[in-house]
Amino acid sequence: MRVHDSLIDLVGDTPLVRLKKVTEGLAPTILAKVEYFNPGGSVKDRIALRMVEAAEKSGKLKPGGTIVEPTSGNTGIGLAMIAQEKGYRCVFICPDKVGPDKLSVLRAYGAEVVVCPTTVAPDHPDSYYSVSDRMAAEIPGAWKPNQYENMNNPESHYHSTGPEIWEQTEGRITHFVAGIGTGGTISGTGRYLKEVSGGSVRVIGADPEGSVYSGGSGRPYLVEGVGEDIWPGTYDTSVCDDIVAVSDKDSFLMTRRLAREEALLVGGSCGLAVEAALKVAEDAGPDDVIVVLLPDGGRGYLGKIFNDEWMADYGFLSTATEEATAGQVL
Ligand code: PMP
Repeated sequence: MRVHDSLIDLVGDTPLVRLKKVTEGLAPTILAKVEYFNPGGSVKDRIALRMVEAAEKSGKLKPGGTIVEPTSGNTGIGLAMIAQEKGYRCVFICPDKVGPDKLSVLRAYGAEVVVCPTTVAPDHPDSYYSVSDRMAAEIPGAWKPNQYENMNNPESHYHSTGPEIWEQTEGRITHFVAGIGTGGTISGTGRYLKEVSGGSVRVIGADPEGSVYSGGSGRPYLVEGVGEDIWPGTYDTSVCDDIVAVSDKDSFLMTRRLAREEALLVGGSCGLAVEAALKVAEDAGPDDVIVVLLPDGGRGYLGKIFNDEWMADYGFLSTATEEATAGQVL
């Protein structure tokens, strides 16, 4: 029988898919590493698994222990899935701006969710930073992965994402493009690809306009999962050769094109990364192979990026056809 005993065996080994339509007129080969094929639906399953296994090995996480992390997104889903498989309790601390669907996903995996006010300062006792620190200290057997400082985050990509891409392209990759959130993906994958290629692979970060990585102050932007207002320990500043800043509007319009033209229903940070990859492709040649990493699927964004009214409210629908369909039930 062809059977997997655990979903954990299915983390990683995601496919590379050629982009054909949105790349029309560009010379290089552009390949998407589609991370929604991970069992929890995102690239974050990789870091969740490695952080948990390292904590088990070092004794920080013991049988019956509790994982406590301030996260509402894909890392939470990855941790909740692995905790469920391995029998740990999970407590996530989320700010109250997080939508009900995201909280429901975490609860559906059996995680407990504590919601904290967004309006208080980070050092206030009710802030989600303070509450997560307090819960990690007070719950017996608690362990806090801390994805922004945990070096098993970039290490997971150094040991899985990087080697997979090198093997899948038979060493022909010339450029790697990925969005930067914690920086784990670009730092670990980029470092591996540079080492194995003798430094010839160029690594390009994609960043929302306004985030610190592309020189901003952390001004709010709407694309989720990427960009920062702090410099996390997991981001290796020596790996990126270039950083491309992309607007919310361009990120979201490309995200919609990926669904309609490439049949890739993916999240907003995927549109951001593909926009950056297309900019890189403009200056690349026909023998170049650009790999762009798409972190998650699009189902979590149906009410926003794929909702015409939401897009129109922000002024993101620009072409006549896009405007014409706004608000209509088609
Ligand atoms: N896109 C999405 C949707 C994410 O959840 C993340 C993780 N924060 C990223 C991109 C960026 O990945 P990383 O944290 O490895 O830089």
